[in-house]
Amino acid sequence: MFWRCGSLSSKKTLKMSSPTYTLSKSTFVRGCKCLKSLYLYKFHYDLRDEVSEQQQSLFDQGNEVGMLARSLFPGGKDATVSPAHDYTASVQHTQQFLETGCKTVYEAGFMFNNVYAAADILLIRPNGWYLYEVKSSTSVKEYHILDAALQYYILKNLGYPVKQVNIVCINNQYVRHCTIEPEKLFDIHDITTQAGDLQDYVEDQLEVMQQMLKIRMEPQCRLGPQCSEFYPCDFHGHCWKKFNEVKYPVTAISKIGDKLWELVNKNIYCQSQIPSEYYFRLTPLQRQQIVCTLEHKSSAPNIKEIRKFLKNVSSPVSFLDFETIATAIPLFDGTRPYQQVPFQFSLHCDDGSGQHCHYEYLGDGKTDPRPELIKQLLTSIPRKGSILVYYMPFEQTRLQELAESFPQYRKQLLSICERLVDLIIPFRNRYIYHHKMNGSASIKSVLPALFPELDYSKLNISDGGIASLAYLNLSRLKDKKQIASIREDLLEYCKRDTDAMVKLYGYLNNLTCSCAKVIPMWQMEVLSNVSRIESSVKNEIVTNRAESNTVAKNTRDELSASLKCFGDVFSTSINSTTQLQKNQLEIFAANLVTLTKSIEEKLQTLTAGIENKLQKSNAASTNESKESLKELKDTLDGFKKDFTESVNDFNSVQKENFYALLNKQSDQNVATTNKLDQMRDTLERKLTDIQLGNEKKLEEMRATVDEKLQKTLESRLGESFKIVSERLEAVHKGLGDMQQLAIGVGDLKKVLTNVKTRGILGEYQLANILEQILTPEQYEKNVKTKAGSNCAVEFAVKLPGKEDKPLWLPVDSKFPREDFELLINAYEHSGADEIEECRKNFVRGIKKAAMDICSKYIDPPYTTDFAILFLPFESLYAEVLRSPGLFEMIRSEYKITIAGPTTLSAFLSSLQMGFKTLAIEKRSSEVWQLLGAVKTEFGNFGGILEKTQKKLQEASNVIEQAGVRSRAIERKLKTVQELPKDKSTELLENIIENSAEQEISIIAN
Ligand code: SF4
Repeated sequence: MFWRCGSLSSKKTLKMSSPTYTLSKSTFVRGCKCLKSLYLYKFHYDLRDEVSEQQQSLFDQGNEVGMLARSLFPGGKDATVSPAHDYTASVQHTQQFLETGCKTVYEAGFMFNNVYAAADILLIRPNGWYLYEVKSSTSVKEYHILDAALQYYILKNLGYPVKQVNIVCINNQYVRHCTIEPEKLFDIHDITTQAGDLQDYVEDQLEVMQQMLKIRMEPQCRLGPQCSEFYPCDFHGHCWKKFNEVKYPVTAISKIGDKLWELVNKNIYCQSQIPSEYYFRLTPLQRQQIVCTLEHKSSAPNIKEIRKFLKNVSSPVSFLDFETIATAIPLFDGTRPYQQVPFQFSLHCDDGSGQHCHYEYLGDGKTDPRPELIKQLLTSIPRKGSILVYYMPFEQTRLQELAESFPQYRKQLLSICERLVDLIIPFRNRYIYHHKMNGSASIKSVLPALFPELDYSKLNISDGGIASLAYLNLSRLKDKKQIASIREDLLEYCKRDTDAMVKLYGYLNNLTCSCAKVIPMWQMEVLSNVSRIESSVKNEIVTNRAESNTVAKNTRDELSASLKCFGDVFSTSINSTTQLQKNQLEIFAANLVTLTKSIEEKLQTLTAGIENKLQKSNAASTNESKESLKELKDTLDGFKKDFTESVNDFNSVQKENFYALLNKQSDQNVATTNKLDQMRDTLERKLTDIQLGNEKKLEEMRATVDEKLQKTLESRLGESFKIVSERLEAVHKGLGDMQQLAIGVGDLKKVLTNVKTRGILGEYQLANILEQILTPEQYEKNVKTKAGSNCAVEFAVKLPGKEDKPLWLPVDSKFPREDFELLINAYEHSGADEIEECRKNFVRGIKKAAMDICSKYIDPPYTTDFAILFLPFESLYAEVLRSPGLFEMIRSEYKITIAGPTTLSAFLSSLQMGFKTLAIEKRSSEVWQLLGAVKTEFGNFGGILEKTQKKLQEASNVIEQAGVRSRAIERKLKTVQELPKDKSTELLENIIENSAEQEISIIAN
């Protein structure tokens, strides 16, 4: 469950008699985390790291929290002893309180089996004992439970009735109002069950630790997450010193995480030791860092991305940084535990001319710094433009918290949030990377890498943690000199942060400018193509190498497997041969034993027979004894001879067998040796073949890769060179254009340096504007507007005057170039005094020109009572407007209105509108007259219409009468015969002609 690093190598030594060491809560937790840490603590205390000021402050804060937590259970007795490691005194003290019936004890100490623990708060209640362990963190951690479990273990084993085990933590949602309310500030967590579940574990761990202390042997322990988990180990400096001994430690690789332990396990401490095949496991940014570090180079800046980033920044640019304090017990009303309360800010603002104004605020260390800080910030920060910060989430959250706590400033504070831009982005995303940044984008790493003279280490306060501590100290200090010195250091530190941002922002801008000048885009593309090709080539080579390694490894494995197999076969065959020989020898020995036995038996039988015969013959006859003896002797001799022969034969057979066996064995050995030789030869041949095959394959692979690389390089380089040559042509052409342009610029310069031509330029521009807006009838050139004067104004606009005579509006252009240029130069290179001097000269020149126009061309009622002074450039006009009151003074004093190109165009456009309105007014009376005439004519037209109607009526009546008459005629003509058509036509034509003549004569008469 819990961390554990290190183990005991031997248990045999456990029974050695050695001195015993007392364990406490802290040493127990230390041992659970890492046995080596416990060992070093007990036997090499001098190797511990020094306690830093910040760590000491955390300890002090923990003590403060512990004291405050006592107010949850007031009225207790304090069993604290001094020195704190006088465990015996602590236990005695506690016992005394218990014996006197004390119900609440603080720091109650108990000891069991050489293990000591003190409960922060112990409550003795009728139903049992309650333990409270106070922690200054905001949640219950694993090691808190372990700590409490040890107390539970000791008290249980001492036979005390523990009812409940609790952890008291800080409630980070608590908001302070006036005085601290401990019951709200603290959260109590009942962990009795968890502590109970850990009892066996505690017991085991105690045993292991005590054994380790007894044998006094340093446990084997690798570096690992335990070194920094929950809190950093205080033997870090000792255990990690190997990293300090190498130049480029792997610990410096950014975001290395758990890969660090893999490298450490392989005894890789320096970046240069990392094997190439391991590179694949690293991220591209980590690889970039290592390459840059080892080759001492910076990566090419990503100008495209930097430009994109800078586009998000709008002028005027400001730079802001906060310093904060965060305490477990909130210091001010409206704050929460561990809330980052800003006590200081530094602000650099661009004043519009490229210069920076600096504003800062630092609290007094006693009262809540936030209200005044907000006021000062809102007064000094510009209303528009981007605000650059380094690591935006921090400043943004601070502003949001301030807005929440001070709703009256909410709108302004949140509007600042909206304008924040994070300057860390180009460095964190490695748009720019210098090997001295060591893989870090922190401003403390980036600044000295790019501006070594601005190293933070030269400051008395060199980081935010120390700054917080220094600020907290302000309230405790009495010595004014000391206070002033700390304040100075704090102001310098915070200013360095914004100074750093100003520098870095300028650096990025310069980079894009210089790159734009020095490296054109096409070159950037070529560079990026080349770097892409380079990295792909590198990757391919590394892949190739890794594959070759794998193939070689596989071959080695195969070879060793076949050798092993061969060894196994060989040893099996030897074993079987030996076994066979052994069996044969055993059979031979058994045969020999059987033979000897049978011979012995035969001898015994023979001896017995002889003895019987002897006994019988002794009894029969002594005479026969000699013969018998002789016979016996002969028989025995014969037998001896036979036996010797038979034994000799047997021996020779055995010898032959044995020699045959030996021969067979040696033959077998020879055969085995031959076989082995053959196998070795075959193996060697095969190995050589494999080796040759591998080499050939590798060669082929290398050739393929080379070919591919060559091809890719050639094709890509070809493409790139094609693009390059195209671009070069374009550049060449561009250069020609530029030369033309340069000639043009030179001409322009000449024009501008000559007073006369300069005047002509202004006049020319003025003419252009007039021509574009007015019609040629609406203005005149070179008009003598003043009666009796020969001075002719460049242009005069015709306004409608009395008696159809024009009223002139004089317009004259002026261009005070020298004064203007001097003023602009002064802005860029000189101090305030010189700028003021140049400005005065410029104003003088403008006034003189206005006076000139006023005296020469204004002459009411022939002209308007004012004239226009035209300035041919907007910048010139803007400079006039920039001089406070100049424009108004010239208008009121000299009746001259100053206008730039845009203003004049607007003015003339409104005049043109006026002219048009006048023309319409004039034409409208004519329209009325026309309408009157039309009305009169319309009346006459009505009369004529009536008459026409009458005449038409009369004509229709006459036609009706004619119809009646024609019908009467028809009736009468019915009796008349009809003539043929031709004759009738002829006759009628004659009649018509005659009647027409008659009518004409009648009319004539
Ligand atoms: S630094 Fe790591 S390995 Fe060394 S004692 Fe501490 S925890 Fe154990």
